[in-house]
Amino acid sequence: MGRKNRDLSYLKPFCFYCDKTFKNEVYLHQHQKAKHFTCQRCFKKFSSCDSLKNHVESAHHEVLTKIPNATGDRSDIKNKIFGMQGVPRVEIEKRIRKGAEEYWTKILSAQYQQRRKENKQRMKQNKEISKKENQQDVKIDNEKEEIEQHEYNPEAKPISFDLDYEQLQKQ
Ligand SMILES: [Zn+2]
Ligand SMILES: [Zn+2]
Repeated sequence: MGRKNRDLSYLKPFCFYCDKTFKNEVYLHQHQKAKHFTCQRCFKKFSSCDSLKNHVESAHHEVLTKIPNATGDRSDIKNKIFGMQGVPRVEIEKRIRKGAEEYWTKILSAQYQQRRKENKQRMKQNKEISKKENQQDVKIDNEKEEIEQHEYNPEAKPISFDLDYEQLQKQ
């Protein structure tokens, strides 16, 4: 179950500021208060970046320019996030697309490996039978090629989900 949860974590609420995933938005918001809306001078917690900004100005006479503990561009004070509110839709779409690609590639690769294993076992059995029957292995080699041609090969053909963002935004 734990593994499954991790695989589908791209569908869960996530922190825009640091990219961590959460079980629900209540936990996400608790995290944001503790990590991103906490005053770095006096460690008071706030429920939004605006209230933290106001506090820093009035209590410490400083200007808050960056969201504490946020990564890269995400630390911009203009990113006003509350849980999942304010997260740009395009960022959510990107995350879902990447997660779905990884998820299905993993599943299809596992299926591919399993079928390869089964085919190998079957060929081994066939070989033993044909040895017993004193036949040549030519027939089996042909069969092997046929099987491989019809198998899904994740390395040869990566899966891609091409979302039309313009079209999605019109909907
Ligand atoms: Zn975070
Ligand atoms: Zn403070």
